[in-house]
Amino acid sequence: MKTKQIVNIALDGPSGAGKSTLSKALAKELGLIYVDTGAMYRAIGLFALRQNVETNDSASVIPLLDSIKIDLIYKRKEQRILLNGEDVSEKIREHAVSAAASDVSAIPEVRHFLLDLQRSIAESNSVIMDGRDIGTVILPNADLKLFLTATAEERAMRRYKELIERGQKMEYETVLSDMLKRDRNDEMRDHAPLKPAPDAVLLDTTGNSFSDTFALIRQVIKDRLNDVF
Ligand code: C5P
Repeated sequence: MKTKQIVNIALDGPSGAGKSTLSKALAKELGLIYVDTGAMYRAIGLFALRQNVETNDSASVIPLLDSIKIDLIYKRKEQRILLNGEDVSEKIREHAVSAAASDVSAIPEVRHFLLDLQRSIAESNSVIMDGRDIGTVILPNADLKLFLTATAEERAMRRYKELIERGQKMEYETVLSDMLKRDRNDEMRDHAPLKPAPDAVLLDTTGNSFSDTFALIRQVIKDRLNDVF
């Protein structure tokens, strides 16, 4: 049972909208735990890649779930993700893993596998949880739901810069077309598609600096949750 002092903030939106950077900063400022649910899909995608299975073939992916254990741990308040005990926090950021994560995330059994883990973290902790279906499916009673967007070109440019910083050689055009493909997968899937909850606050971050958007969200939180923060 959720106790009164626990606060849940849901932050959804497409890849590259700035969810993780903003969530981390907000978590720090507000004393919340940041839960990156995309990392969980990435860990399952990585496992499937390592087993050499077609990541979009549900009949091959579903049996793997029995051999997967995912844990989130917090080291110096930073989320680390363990796949069967191995810290894969860096490996899951590789470009190939993004496509695999998008594929496996369309499989209802994979989503179901992660649902309890995501809900149980939010039941016993104050969290800001980012993903695609947090406001619609995972935490329908979240205290605040935010939905971040930006144009595909701007999101792709942010992701491209991140990959380059990590030393991965990529063309901007490839990042953009892969991102458009993943957006389509996320929006068109039958199960828990990417969409704002009816009661979500929509924020378009196109052209905003990080501090613009941070200030905007901080204000929304102040207005909506002024009894807590
Ligand atoms: O957020 P991130 O890009 O790391 O997520 C990786 C993939 O996992 C996304 O492309 C999306 O398909 C999927 N995902 C999802 N539901 C979530 C979080 C991520 O389907 N709650």
